[in-house]
Amino acid sequence: MKEQIQVKREKDLEEGNQSYFWIKSDGEKKLATENFVPGNQVYKEKLIIKKGIEYRLWDPFRSKLAASIMNDLNDFPFENKTKVLYLGASTGTTVSHISDIVGPNGIIFAVEHASRVARDFLDRVAAYRKNIMPILQDARKPKEYFSVFGKVDVVYVDIAQPDQTEIAINNCEMFLKKGGYFFLVIKTRSIDVTKAPKRIVDEEIEKLKEKFDVIQSIDLHPYDKDHAMVIATFRN
Ligand code: SAM
Repeated sequence: MKEQIQVKREKDLEEGNQSYFWIKSDGEKKLATENFVPGNQVYKEKLIIKKGIEYRLWDPFRSKLAASIMNDLNDFPFENKTKVLYLGASTGTTVSHISDIVGPNGIIFAVEHASRVARDFLDRVAAYRKNIMPILQDARKPKEYFSVFGKVDVVYVDIAQPDQTEIAINNCEMFLKKGGYFFLVIKTRSIDVTKAPKRIVDEEIEKLKEKFDVIQSIDLHPYDKDHAMVIATFRN
């Protein structure tokens, strides 16, 4: 069956500033980004061509940013030209979609400390995408990211560490511009297995209040179990 595609502008996006798309595929409305590297797949996601433009379906079961959109994320600060510091790049599933969105004039400084994972990320993602600057470093040592220049618009953190909020705050203090956005994935079980997930999220939010305005907290169920996304802006 031929793919029927609806490319629809999101209500919160300005004209000429399209970041992600809803595409009808297999009878369902699915999330997609415009492929920055046509023909290139990252995680065997489906590629769909419409009017000469190739889109990559964005799987919310594989990407917590996509899961956040599915679960009614209010503010989406990633757009053409956005500068992002991303901690915990892993093999690059989410980074690749952000790379589609920020385009040739944006940049993603993508930090990953596990060398085997980072090699995979380099070979399969960063090598094809000129807007990704891979950084093989520990997010606990932001002073050692020598390639990050200037301040960024968004800091995105998904490192699944018990002290991830403190690590994230240190990185924001060094690199996030005033008023910039902060996305924090909270893997509730990795912080403390004995506490209820909501309590863990509330405790992490409490740590942010001194320097951030927390604007939304999203439970990622059913796409991701025991994870939440917290979105805040940096007061400084
Ligand atoms: N954000 C990825 C995505 O959506 O495709 C998934 C990230 S995965 C849950 C967490 C990653 O953080 C792992 O690849 C891990 O090696 C990395 N990580 C954990 N601690 C780190 C640290 N201190 N510095 C840099 N990377 C770290």
